[in-house]
Order: sequence, then C-alpha cells, then structure tokens
Amino acid sequence: MPDGHLKQCKPCFKIREKKRFAEKPEQAQARRDRVKAWRKANPERVKINQAVYVARHQEKILRKSREAYRANLAKERERSKLSYRKRREKHAAYQKEWKARNPEAVAAQDKRYAERHPEKIKAHRAVETATRTGRLTKPSSCQVCHAEPKSLDLHAHHPDYSHPLDIEWLCRGCHADWHNSPP
Ligand SMILES: [Zn+2]
Ligand SMILES: [Zn+2]
Repeated sequence: MPDGHLKQCKPCFKIREKKRFAEKPEQAQARRDRVKAWRKANPERVKINQAVYVARHQEKILRKSREAYRANLAKERERSKLSYRKRREKHAAYQKEWKARNPEAVAAQDKRYAERHPEKIKAHRAVETATRTGRLTKPSSCQVCHAEPKSLDLHAHHPDYSHPLDIEWLCRGCHADWHNSPP
C-alpha cells in the first residue's frame, strides 16, 4: 500500500493523491457512481485489478479469512456449549418432575441400585457422615482442573469403593472424564 501523500482507491485500485480523498459527501457519492459505472463498463479490468490486489495482499487476505474462521469457530463453540447446558438443564428438570410423579418407581430403582452396589451406597454414606461431622471438608475447587463450580457440581469421587473416605473432589466435567476414560 502506497504511503505518504499517496493512497489507493479501494473500489478502483487506482493510486491517487490523498487530498483527492478529502471530498464532500456528494462528491464522494458522485465518484463512487463513476467508479461503479466504470467497473460495469470494464469488467475485464476489474478482474485484472482484483487479481493484482489479491496477489499483492495474499497474506493479509489469508490472515483475515483465517481470523474470521477462528472467530466464527469460537462463536460456534460457545453456542453449542450453551445449547448443551440448556439441554442438560431441561433433561434434569424433566427427570426431577418424573421422579416427583413416580415415587414408587424411584424407590424401586433405588432399592435395586442398593442391592447391586452395596459398596457404593456404604461409601457414599460414609462420605456424607464424614462431611457432616467435619471429618472430611468439601473444598471449593476441583482437584484436577481447580475450577470452582457450585457445591452440588463438586462430586466426591471414589477411585476405589473399598476405601470409602479416600475420595477425590472433582467437578462435573473432570468426574465425567474420569469415568469415560479411567487413568
Ligand atoms: Zn475439574
Ligand atoms: Zn466417580
């Protein structure tokens, strides 16, 4: 891009003196109209000029498009995160409602779970009691990623249920990670 007292006209790519750009609005409009008419009358030249511009500013153009791509990706991620959270909240609300409407089914489910996993029930009770009596203190942050979620979202995870009080405090995400791919 020429510097100093010269400047390149964006629509027609011609290099002119800067003062020519300091024009009144109606002059500017008239010039834009002229340029538009010229571009319409000279499509070949426009193509060539564009090719020259692209060749000259390849890096800038690439960088801009990469930046736009990245910004868009970040936006998309944020959006999908939000919708995931919404879906999760909706699901949790639905579950809560279902449980309230079907207490017998919930009791039967709990009973089956307790019968199948006595060691888990015992371990969970031990943690509950130990937290209540102050033998264990629930920290404010996840031991893995150090995030500070709401208390309900900080889980007491048992790497080994035969050691009921050997727990790790994990946020919901790290907890899910652990169970999806145990170390
Ligand atoms: Zn975590
Ligand atoms: Zn766990």
